[in-house]
Amino acid sequence: MRSLLPTARSILIHTGQTAILAGMAVLAMAAAPMGAPAGEAATMTETPALAPIQAVAEPAGPVTRQMAFIAPVRGYGVNSPFGLRKLAGEARARAHKGVDIAAPKGTGVLVTAEGRVLRTGYDAGGFGNFVEVSHPNGMTSLYGHLSRIDVASGMAVESGQRIGLVGSTGYSTGPHLHFQIERNGRTVDPARVVGRAFAVVVKASQA
Ligand SMILES: [Zn+2]
Repeated sequence: MRSLLPTARSILIHTGQTAILAGMAVLAMAAAPMGAPAGEAATMTETPALAPIQAVAEPAGPVTRQMAFIAPVRGYGVNSPFGLRKLAGEARARAHKGVDIAAPKGTGVLVTAEGRVLRTGYDAGGFGNFVEVSHPNGMTSLYGHLSRIDVASGMAVESGQRIGLVGSTGYSTGPHLHFQIERNGRTVDPARVVGRAFAVVVKASQA
């Protein structure tokens, strides 16, 4: 009986610790945000928060100007949004990295904001004829499935300038524009960018 006593005590201590650990686990669960993304697929659609607009009231601060982003196709809306979607004939939902705007073949595609053409090309299994533009606020925009490309790599473009025509080249089932925006290498929902203005530093602080 004597040798059993320490064992019993150690069991008690152990049980006590387990209870504390269990309590901590409950607390950790309570601290976790509600509705946190459950899997990798959900994280892919996460939209990074946009940087705050820089203050212009500071006397010695940088001089900024506003740069507006406009819709790339006039008269037609988004018919397939950004985020997870399941296409007909596909078993699994996949992340749609941009928005689709269905419009007749030959409709003008306008650059969403001023910038410089990063590259143009043809991606047979994906974007088809595409144009990618970099903007002075650090974002890039991509226009896919074009029937015609009207700009060349390196060209400066003004907001609203036509860069090509709507088509159905590449992985596409009908004429539409695939419009994608990236910031710091991650896609963001174009619906959260179009119609907004972003500050661009024109002149650095004098201080
Ligand atoms: Zn698309």
